[in-house]
Amino acid sequence: MSDCLFCKIIAGEISSQKIFENENVYAFKDLYPQAKEHYLFISKRHSKNINDLTVSDAKQLEEVFAAIQSFTSSNGLEKDGFRVVTNINEHGGQTVFHTHFHVLGGEQLKGFGA
Ligand code: 5GP
Ligand code: ZN
Repeated sequence: MSDCLFCKIIAGEISSQKIFENENVYAFKDLYPQAKEHYLFISKRHSKNINDLTVSDAKQLEEVFAAIQSFTSSNGLEKDGFRVVTNINEHGGQTVFHTHFHVLGGEQLKGFGA
């Protein structure tokens, strides 16, 4: 999608700090980290959010979660623990409308509502 920020990052038109890439998935550091480690995992195929994705191309979920598994199991995040978050539309706090999964860790995270 030509006017999508994350599609531009995948295409290299906007720079990012890449931490993982394979044929289907791209992952990079969040520009405004909310934890010591904060990464964004995205499919290279554009979709708006997970509700869009589950009806149009659910395989992307499998691909992205396999990438998260591969990355977190090899860099210590899995051992210590981490959080995966996806935001949907306005009340969910979604600001970039290309499905993405926040991977947060590297420190003890607060519980919800804390
Ligand atoms: P959302 O609020 O849609 O769930 O998450 C969008 C995320 O993208 C935010 O955490 C925000 O910090 C991050 N972000 C926004 N613009 C950029 C950018 O240009 N580069 C990077 N690496 N992250 C960005
Ligand atoms: Zn996109």
